[in-house]
Amino acid sequence: RRLDSRCGLSAGLLGESQTPVHTEPMEGVYEVTGELGRGKFAVVKRCVEKASGKVFAAKFLRKRRRGRDCRAEVIHEMAVLELARNNARVVNLHSAHETDHDIVLILEYAAGGEIFDLCVSEEMLPEPQITRLIRQTLEGVHNLHQSNLVHLDLKPQNILLTSQLPPGDIKIVDFGLARRLGAVGELREILGTPEYVAPEVLNYEPITTATDMWSVGVIAYMLVTGESPFAGDDKQETYLNVSQVNVDYSKEAFSKVSELAVDFIQKLLVKAPEDRPTAAECMTHPWLWQQQLCLSPEPMIIRPVRERSCGVKWAAPLEDPEDK
Ligand code: ADP
Ligand code: MG
Repeated sequence: RRLDSRCGLSAGLLGESQTPVHTEPMEGVYEVTGELGRGKFAVVKRCVEKASGKVFAAKFLRKRRRGRDCRAEVIHEMAVLELARNNARVVNLHSAHETDHDIVLILEYAAGGEIFDLCVSEEMLPEPQITRLIRQTLEGVHNLHQSNLVHLDLKPQNILLTSQLPPGDIKIVDFGLARRLGAVGELREILGTPEYVAPEVLNYEPITTATDMWSVGVIAYMLVTGESPFAGDDKQETYLNVSQVNVDYSKEAFSKVSELAVDFIQKLLVKAPEDRPTAAECMTHPWLWQQQLCLSPEPMIIRPVRERSCGVKWAAPLEDPEDK
């Protein structure tokens, strides 16, 4: 069955959200300030709740796009955020407002910006910090998958940080393409960004949780090399690179990258979704825990192996400092 991914017609949208959409003027409640980011149909601005002085991120989603009513898409995005409410690695939905043109999601503010900036910065992040961010991303993704949710648009622009320097904790954002698995049978044909999507998406094959795992591989690749593994000179070339899993693991790109990092990435960037490890399986990969073995002055690496905030207990393959 062909599923239409254009707004309002997509299959698998959640129809109801618990969060009331307030219609009284937003200006009374929030002071909206500078822009934080934007995508195709959304602008995200920093805002301050007047009553509390708390800072939030206001995501303005256009109700009409290309002449269509897209309210259902926005309600779906809210409903997914609600289902992920107990997931500490997902940005929290505080409230929602409606203006003439937009529905505005008032989201927990992630002050550290996108991990994309870490990927493209001159100075590469040390591997112990990269693995901490990947562990947190896997925790978030694992929790989503446990709830039968797939994100389908995981990329460095949609993984934010609570603070920038030193890098804080990750927060996953942008659930516009996220879907609940199982509700409508097979899920196909929802396109993310070609550079970051798995081959099965490009080939209109069934989408599963493994689709997100491919994206985790792309994100890990970008954090360690600073390069996008499949980006071609044009869309055509990118599609070809993805569907042929044409990845550069050459010495140039990987001169400063550990062998375990390469192994981790290679296990995820495989064509057959069923051959990719799950988020829980990834968590036991030695790359993610190797720093626990060496003593280093880097404060980041002596954080507890098991982070208590996210409610996931991982079977760490190495000894846990908390057990001492
Ligand atoms: P789109 O669906 O248009 O891609 P996103 O939800 O990804 O919208 O938001 C666009 C950008 O806005 C993000 O890539 C990020 O830079 C910024 N942004 C989104 N949510 C937040 C947030 N909660 N805190 C800080 N910045 C945010
Ligand atoms: Mg986005």
